[in-house]
Amino acid sequence: MKRKIIVAGAGHGGLTAAALLAGKGFDVTVFEKGERENLGHDWEDCTVLSSFEFAGIEPPPARLLRPMGPISYFSPSKSVLLRPEDESLSSTIVYIDRKELLAHLIGICEKAGVNFRFGEEVKGPVIKNGRVSGIKTDKGEYDCGLLIDAAGVLSPVRMNLPGEAGICRMPDEKDMLHTFRALYERNGESSSLPQYCAYFYHNGNRGFDWVIDEETHADVLVASFEKINDEIRDSALEDFRKDHKYIGEKLLRGGYYALIPVRRALAKFVWNGYAAIGDSASMIEPLSGSGISQSIEAGRLLADTVAGIEGGEYTEKNLYKYEYEYFRRFMRNQLRDEATRLLMMEAGVKRLDTMFDKRIITGKEMYGGRYTFKDIALKAAGIISSPSVIPLLCRIGIRNMKIPGLYKTLPREYDEKALRKWENKYNRF
Ligand SMILES: Cc1cc2nc3c(=O)[nH]c(=O)nc-3n(C[C@H](O)[C@H](O)[C@H](O)COP(=O)(O)OP(=O)(O)OC[C@H]3O[C@@H](n4cnc5c(N)ncnc54)[C@H](O)[C@@H]3O)c2cc1C
Repeated sequence: MKRKIIVAGAGHGGLTAAALLAGKGFDVTVFEKGERENLGHDWEDCTVLSSFEFAGIEPPPARLLRPMGPISYFSPSKSVLLRPEDESLSSTIVYIDRKELLAHLIGICEKAGVNFRFGEEVKGPVIKNGRVSGIKTDKGEYDCGLLIDAAGVLSPVRMNLPGEAGICRMPDEKDMLHTFRALYERNGESSSLPQYCAYFYHNGNRGFDWVIDEETHADVLVASFEKINDEIRDSALEDFRKDHKYIGEKLLRGGYYALIPVRRALAKFVWNGYAAIGDSASMIEPLSGSGISQSIEAGRLLADTVAGIEGGEYTEKNLYKYEYEYFRRFMRNQLRDEATRLLMMEAGVKRLDTMFDKRIITGKEMYGGRYTFKDIALKAAGIISSPSVIPLLCRIGIRNMKIPGLYKTLPREYDEKALRKWENKYNRF
């Protein structure tokens, strides 16, 4: 029983941990509400192969991958387009079909001896004596020594944890990116715009949209920090079709709404008998909404922690190492990314336009590179001539200054009082 592990949902991190733990002799079962042949978003997404190497699992075969090119960014009024100096394809970021990626991870799990129960919906955790002791599904109740929650942002396990677990049940609405993604048939027209175009505050909506000009289709994303509906989607599409005339009417894939938790990881994501991973714990890059690679790497951190717990006592204290290792690896980048996202959100259309127009935001922020004296002088002149952006830039500066302190003060060893104090500081970021 102590080596019995249940994974709720076939999320990427849960599958990675499942494969690694089954490989070490644990009895692992994944409960997934979807059917095997129908898992994963109905489109391609980008990720990095180094995550597979870090996790120690086989990367997807080359035939499933294609390289991604750099994105060009439009300011809200479209008066500025930031383009990379080098538009060649990336050697590290790859596109993969989400269904193929999940099939690949499930194949690895099965080889390692993981059991799957597809088509079985998890309803919530079973709580006994101050710990998670199993799950309830639409077909029954099952005991386990540890429940790994990989059921995504709307996980019914996390949302039904008792208050004493101290885990945030649902991220704030303001930290949710509401998306609509669809691949449309090309209609034979063309466009002189770059292949990958992203738009801030497209059509006045607080978020970012994109259009990608693929050989076989047009890939459209509408993404907002406020709820979106068919009217907002149609209006965004209409605007896109004016500039990207190749976007046809026929829907080829996708065509539905989905949520992304674009915030730093939850301050706490382990409890007695419980560990969350992936979107369920908000393990994502807050600016881009990418979470596949972080989830896969967290899978290895979790499996290492669990395998190192002698006697199978999966208490919050013993599982803390997983939380600690996760924060050490990802916290600084995630917080920097979140500070930038908050800047974009708080700026509003007018101030963001000013920052693009006055060269306060330039290609250097988007693509990296060394600042020259001229860059700095232009930026300083832009800031001085735009007093409305100064408070905003001060706020992002203060947030960024807090990051080293949060990183340094994270308790190395489990100490309940010190941890609750640290979580309060982290939550106020
Ligand atoms: C439009 C869009 C574009 C994105 N683009 C990228 C990108 O380019 N790169 C990137 O890295 N990430 C991207 N993401 C984010 C990415 O989808 C997630 O971060 C990633 O999937 C990690 O989530 P996860 O594996 O934890 O959970 P999910 O992928 O959400 O998987 C959760 C699984 O749990 C199952 N489940 C849910 N509830 C239950 C239940 N009650 N019972 C049983 N099973 C259940 C679901 O069916 C699902 O299989 C994008 C997301 C969206 C919406």
